[in-house]
Amino acid sequence: MTLPFATRLNNVETSAIRELFKLLGKPGIISFAGGFPDSAMFDVPGIKESAAKALAEEPGAALQYGATEGYEPLRTQLAHFMQAKGAQDVEPQGLIVTTGSQQALDLLGKTMISPGDKVIVEAPTFLATIQCFRLYGADLVTAPVDAHGVQTDKLEKLIAEHKPKLVYLIPTFGNPSGAMLSRERRLKVLELAKKYKTLVVEDDPYGDLYFGEAPPPSILALSREVPGSREWIAHCGSLSKVLSPGLRVGWLVAQPELLAKATMCKQFSDAHTSTFAQATAAQYLKSGRMPDTLHRVRQVYAERAKAMGDALQKDLGDAIEFTRPNGGLFFWARLTGNGGKLKDSGELAKRAIEKGVAFVPGAPFFATNPDLSTLRLSFATVGVDKIVEGVGRLGAAVSR
Ligand code: PMP
Repeated sequence: MTLPFATRLNNVETSAIRELFKLLGKPGIISFAGGFPDSAMFDVPGIKESAAKALAEEPGAALQYGATEGYEPLRTQLAHFMQAKGAQDVEPQGLIVTTGSQQALDLLGKTMISPGDKVIVEAPTFLATIQCFRLYGADLVTAPVDAHGVQTDKLEKLIAEHKPKLVYLIPTFGNPSGAMLSRERRLKVLELAKKYKTLVVEDDPYGDLYFGEAPPPSILALSREVPGSREWIAHCGSLSKVLSPGLRVGWLVAQPELLAKATMCKQFSDAHTSTFAQATAAQYLKSGRMPDTLHRVRQVYAERAKAMGDALQKDLGDAIEFTRPNGGLFFWARLTGNGGKLKDSGELAKRAIEKGVAFVPGAPFFATNPDLSTLRLSFATVGVDKIVEGVGRLGAAVSR
């Protein structure tokens, strides 16, 4: 029997990636396929202490229903966190807490997108955003990305042509591109937002995970340098990649009118983000542990990224093209087909599984015109020795 499901579901399908994930259970597989942070990196003692403090000091608030906008002490801590990263004008009232940044994206879809509306996203971009915006009926238009992030000259042409409801960008260590938008292009994005009166959504779950020099300030932080641009910027933050995704703590910074509408929609959705998780996160941020945690996590991921870059260069040679990321969790690569080697990453994924290594083919990350030669490799959850071994297997799969 088929139920009369809502027509909006016609716009989305379960991703092809899920099929691949079913194969990951095979024993001995080294997986570069996930998008998760490494659970071995979670600061369990710190989170345990923060949870205990939340229960001891504020049991009522931590276990009771709470305000839809978020738990005040957490909003205050998150405002400090953003201020310390250069967004000095973010006040506690200027953000709402969301159930992961995924919910912030959903609320933006719900508040902004009507069926048929044009929305510009990067090519490639975060798969769940493609799916989420499509669920609201968005007609997605793609803007090309290079090693310095979205190409702003092309973006301007697309904005002028399509007059989109919003532009969605992951400017810092994008998933899956790993690219970092230059400061100059960030300023250009702000000029475009202002000039075309277009909402620009900055999704930033990876900005704190840099390996060497810090990236340029977020587009939100730089909006101070372009008077009149701030109201056109919405910024999604998350504790998932730096502290714990299981806490489901994210946030949305935006102008008051948009925040009010998003809050209204959240009220009808989950009422509020878990008060226990929020109180724990607030205690954690207050405890002052975050800088050490970030330092540790950056070091481990930097080592793994270097190992992966070196191994890809050594074992895949000219079969693959990639830029080493300066942060985040991903390598984004393209099979060149040189020397008659494989060019189709979907085919390579099948061969790779046989050799005992997994990655995600890049095609699903494109909202239009998928590039079948691309692939995403995550180094986040695999130790250095296994990275070397896994890339060796990938080399063997490409050459077969
Ligand atoms: N945006 C991007 C670009 C992501 O990669 C992710 C997680 N994979 C999210 C948002 C959602 O993260 P969360 O809901 O855990 O904050």
